[in-house]
Amino acid sequence: MATRDQAHQERETKLHELHEKLTGAVEQLVSGEDWTEALRFAARFRSRSFNNVLLIWAAHLEAFEQGRVHAPFPTYVAGYRQWQQLGRQVMKGQPGYRIFAPVKARFASANPSDPESWRRLNRGEKPRAGEVVRRKIVGSKPAYVWDVSSTTGNPIPDPPAPRLLEGKAPAGLWDGLVVQIEAASFTVVRVANKNMIRGANGMTDFAAKTVTVRTNMDDAAQAKTLCHELAHVLLHNPENEDARQHRGIGEVEAESVALMVGAAHGMDTSDYTVPYVSTWASRVSGKEPVEVVKATGERVRKTAGSILDQLDTAQLSDGTPPVLAQTAPERETPARRQARRPSPRPESEVRDAHTTTTPEWGL
Ligand SMILES: [Zn+2]
Repeated sequence: MATRDQAHQERETKLHELHEKLTGAVEQLVSGEDWTEALRFAARFRSRSFNNVLLIWAAHLEAFEQGRVHAPFPTYVAGYRQWQQLGRQVMKGQPGYRIFAPVKARFASANPSDPESWRRLNRGEKPRAGEVVRRKIVGSKPAYVWDVSSTTGNPIPDPPAPRLLEGKAPAGLWDGLVVQIEAASFTVVRVANKNMIRGANGMTDFAAKTVTVRTNMDDAAQAKTLCHELAHVLLHNPENEDARQHRGIGEVEAESVALMVGAAHGMDTSDYTVPYVSTWASRVSGKEPVEVVKATGERVRKTAGSILDQLDTAQLSDGTPPVLAQTAPERETPARRQARRPSPRPESEVRDAHTTTTPEWGL
């Protein structure tokens, strides 16, 4: 029994090291130039009201279904002139999406604490001496916005994007993961492409009790995705108290588990995992991405360990260094970035819409 305990102990140490490396790689990525540039760009998009987000999503989906845009989800949405200011042009034949823009008017008062004292100023009218001026929303008017996919021009500064795994999956990994998913009373479903699962690689549906993975990617990427979804199944049932947390934390956990299980099989998922985890970790407000990743360490290690225990696949034993590279993924060249187009920001690879469609930045 001692040897078994010892093996467990060794693996625990290794998983711990692996998690520290992941944290380090996230730190390196999010402090890099590409990342900062992308955040700065995203910050130029104003937030919109919930109603407008719904209007944009509905109109974009319609445009996608009619073949007018190539990406199923809107990403960066802005008005005609805003796009021009960002060095991009709305393409011919793109009607844009109608939203309701707030109409603001100026009000002046000599006695601001008295709500009755405010009077509306006409266009160009100056306040009297001693009056305070405030702008208030007085109504709304239709306005048009366009998603980035309806525009051309200067490239969008993307954060380094997850790169799908290539090649064969480790022998028996897929089947072993399916057994565990089925043991949790979920069914594994395979679909032909991402359009059937909201632009994702995989999806876990707690209501339908299904785990869906798209099949038009390499076996290694499919197995990694299945493991990510198994982690959701084990950790994120919305009926469990401790599973209710920010979506970003859930994604960080699921993908970190996938990295560890992959690593134990000699798969290096870091080109996918590091940008994915960084993206989601940076959406958790009020915390630095690295803190978010660190805080998940224990849950992630436990879950990965338990998944590995139940697999009868050939796993790396002692002496094999964890495969996660110390360095962040190499910086993308413009040529490579170009090669990834037309998708401006590969939604499909960032999103694995397992619960709801979360509006992306810029909306
Ligand atoms: Zn997920």
